[in-house]
Amino acid sequence: MNAPFFELRDVKKHFRGKQTFAQRLLAATGNAPPPPVLKAVDGVDLSVTRGEVLGLVGESGCGKSTLARIATGISKPSAGDVAFEGRSAAKLRGKERLNYLLKVQMVFQDPYASLDPRMQVHKIVGEALRVHRLLPKSEIDAAVDKALTEVGLDLAYRTRYPHQFSGGQRQRIGIARALAVKPDFLVCDEPVSALDVSIQAQVINLFMDVREKHGLTYLFVSHDLGVVRHISDRVAIMYLGRIVEIGAASAVFAEPAHPYSAALIAASPSTARRRRTFQPLKGELPSPLAPPSGCPFHPRCEHAMAKCREVRPALREIAPGRSAACHLHHSDTP
Ligand code: SF4
Repeated sequence: MNAPFFELRDVKKHFRGKQTFAQRLLAATGNAPPPPVLKAVDGVDLSVTRGEVLGLVGESGCGKSTLARIATGISKPSAGDVAFEGRSAAKLRGKERLNYLLKVQMVFQDPYASLDPRMQVHKIVGEALRVHRLLPKSEIDAAVDKALTEVGLDLAYRTRYPHQFSGGQRQRIGIARALAVKPDFLVCDEPVSALDVSIQAQVINLFMDVREKHGLTYLFVSHDLGVVRHISDRVAIMYLGRIVEIGAASAVFAEPAHPYSAALIAASPSTARRRRTFQPLKGELPSPLAPPSGCPFHPRCEHAMAKCREVRPALREIAPGRSAACHLHHSDTP
């Protein structure tokens, strides 16, 4: 059997929380409690098939951007493994490591912050080609122009600086920079959420066009269910650092299995009256520094039972290609 194209295996990212002055004093005398640990990502298994678009959704602070950074190698997991084409990214060295970092590219939420304001656009797009000597010097200009043309930017602008472009154009520059190194996998972290609604549709269409043309695979991270529904083959729903449901996008949106997925979808603006933010769900997202016992969604869940407060439900298959972490679907859990 072929190895999955891309996998996250029991990936965790934990951060030590800040201590107060009093706690630091206690630590100095050896009487301090252990510092709090923020579990931004807490045991995520995900696999992505070559050519698919996997949407990853959840409220702000659920850990999806941290997961995106781990997927691209920008951030290291505290535990677990990232595998690209069946090989552990942590074990790759030299040229193989560089190949992984080039084949898996990230498109960022804020294109302005991710573009060096002192560099002209052609230098930004060609930077990786130059630094890693991926092409002879004489061929770099042509490769940059090809990438700029592909994303719909006028070549007359190639010597301009990022501040001379609109938000949509800057995101096109970010996409051109990713495409210039011929990636296989794009990890897109809220790539249209900073753009006007009228521009979002154009940039999403560009993502779909370049996917088709180059056979790209996407992990598409967004808090906007309308966008994810439009673009994704499968969707994973994340809550407090864990995946709580995953399945075909059409099935999850038509009949969500997890109460959190159902609440998110119910709270999502319809396409007829699109807004750029979620309407608030019942209750607040608990702090990942002190997650609730048992099922972390139980304080907000209208179906919560006694065992939901004590036993954390595992993510388990509930139908072919569909998994959920909820006791409502696990009749055998105590
Ligand atoms: Fe709700 Fe219980 Fe399912 Fe958690 S396990 S989502 S609290 S029903």
